[in-house]
Amino acid sequence: MVQLRALLFSALSAPVALAALNEPCYGSGGVAGVCVTTAACSASGGTTISGACPADASDVKCCSKTSCANGASGNCRWTSDCAGTTVSNQCPGPAQMKCCSSSATGFGGYSAPAVPAVGACKAVAVSGANAVVAAWPGRVRQIYCTRDCACPGTSDHCCGKAIDFMCSDAGGVPTSSGRQIAEWIMNNRASLNLKYVIWGQRIWSPTVDSVMAWTSWRSMEDRGDITQNHWDHVHASFN
Ligand SMILES: [Zn+2]
Repeated sequence: MVQLRALLFSALSAPVALAALNEPCYGSGGVAGVCVTTAACSASGGTTISGACPADASDVKCCSKTSCANGASGNCRWTSDCAGTTVSNQCPGPAQMKCCSSSATGFGGYSAPAVPAVGACKAVAVSGANAVVAAWPGRVRQIYCTRDCACPGTSDHCCGKAIDFMCSDAGGVPTSSGRQIAEWIMNNRASLNLKYVIWGQRIWSPTVDSVMAWTSWRSMEDRGDITQNHWDHVHASFN
């Protein structure tokens, strides 16, 4: 009875869940990982690290598996990031986490995306888009700038001053690719006239934050899916 009461109390008083179960994270050494329970991770033969998922406290940790049965260099990664062949049912997390035969990152490989002309999409955003696409050839699949909303609105997209750099094989498909692009945007904040940048449920702003690795950026709430948690695109807002 005491146990039940304690259980009920903890369930009722639990804060809004931040854990983005089955969404990406970076495991030890920055390898591809997925946020799952520690039990699910060990059952799949993976290893966990703490502090790499939005809410580790609820027993959800970043799980990675760098050795699996698909060639000598087989490792678990998001299928969008696999340069080789994949095998299912070898890895922790959802179906998009597969055993990949290649040790190469497999990021990108896309033809240059169309960048909008200056107009509804403002010049600062257009030049930011061009700069990122030039610095990361093949890594950006698609560019989005404006959105159908009045300026000022809830998003800088409403004013044509934000860019979404889609960097996985399709919208809603997770990737580990965006971290390097997001950190590059931070490092080039001055020339880009950057307002803030978001990747993987973390945000960085030059007016608030010092330059640091993405892993130390401010964390954001769980918005519910891969796209809204920025695991398929880097968002950059410009001044
Ligand atoms: Zn955006």
